[in-house]
Amino acid sequence: MFKNLFSLILVGLLLAGAPAQATVTPEQDDSSGQKVEQRHPVTILISIDGFRPDYLDRGITPNLNALAATGIYGPMRPSFPSKTFPNHWTLVTGKTPDHHGIVGNTMEDAARPGEVFKMSTQDPFWWNQAEPVWITAEKQGIRSATMFWPGSEVDFNGVRPADWWPFNQKLSNDRRINAIVDWMRRPADIRPRLVTLYFDTVDTAGHYYGPAPSEKLHAAIAEVDGEIGRLKQQLDDLGQPVNFVIASDHGMTETSPDRIIYLDRIMARDQYRLVESGNYLAIEPLEDNRDAVRAAFLRPHEHMQCWDRENIPEALGYGTNPRVPSIFCLVETGWVVLQDVPEWMTGIGGGHGYDHRDPDMMAFFLSSGPAIRADGQLPVFDNVNIYSLVARLAGVNPVASDGSLAPFEQSLRP
Ligand SMILES: [Zn+2]
Repeated sequence: MFKNLFSLILVGLLLAGAPAQATVTPEQDDSSGQKVEQRHPVTILISIDGFRPDYLDRGITPNLNALAATGIYGPMRPSFPSKTFPNHWTLVTGKTPDHHGIVGNTMEDAARPGEVFKMSTQDPFWWNQAEPVWITAEKQGIRSATMFWPGSEVDFNGVRPADWWPFNQKLSNDRRINAIVDWMRRPADIRPRLVTLYFDTVDTAGHYYGPAPSEKLHAAIAEVDGEIGRLKQQLDDLGQPVNFVIASDHGMTETSPDRIIYLDRIMARDQYRLVESGNYLAIEPLEDNRDAVRAAFLRPHEHMQCWDRENIPEALGYGTNPRVPSIFCLVETGWVVLQDVPEWMTGIGGGHGYDHRDPDMMAFFLSSGPAIRADGQLPVFDNVNIYSLVARLAGVNPVASDGSLAPFEQSLRP
């Protein structure tokens, strides 16, 4: 009877697509005779927003450097546009922004006239062109938990991470770490196997002070490095093995009030709808003046080049998604295009959103843990591949994506 019941449960698990592994945690004696729980490794995907690969070489990141020394790391090419939401969604779906539908931090869709997607939008309509790894995990019986990530609060047909918190920028990095450690203290059956963690402070400092060495930028970098070190130490103390995947969404380049393209010099602002401006330009003509707007923007401009959506160069991998605005302009790295110059823009700052192949836009990647060999720096790869790595480490059977395990294959332990 018991045996039959067990078989039924096993068959049920296999049918549900759960990985073939024990669902109970074995305990065994260690040398001191105490019961020690043998914990299954957890996969923790950490985003350090706006962390440039060269920040690792500034002598202020001992914890990240220690992880790099035991794993793999290097610069990673973001997807276009090199903005926060498009690339965070790429990291967890394995698809380019053109394919996953988060084509900008702000965007429109002809199916929802008058509506604008903003970073606080949680309506699944905007997000469900691709499935994030935590949803696939949950569907396969792998418990997930998100300590923030763009899109992590979105309901996918009733499925969400088992644990998630509404985004709150004011929640200190310290408390974000404490929450994760608390999750990992739980009994095995309600302990997450896949966790995401998001740090915004390095990006914020980069925007305010620029990416060059400065006391304030370096304080932000050092603080995040310290938190990651504290997280690792606390999980080590628990006996919790961790496969870390640490990534950024894009790099950062210096901007200046001396490098501004003034939109009002190109066309009066009441002649078109501004969807997004700054490090690139996304506009929609009004209903009756498409020809005039095209004539004004598609002609040559200094430090900026514009195209109809259909003619955006193939190398950017952008323009097949109907959410890409009908006129799109790439801005020369380090320049900004604006209607009004914000008050705070009085000196050197930082920005991103430019050509994703520009060295300054390169994102950062690091992975370390029991599943990863100490192979050191990897050749540059595209960020669509991170999804495959996270899925493999967490035991998730991945859905179709634009990436693969190829960049990491030789560095994975069997
Ligand atoms: Zn960002």
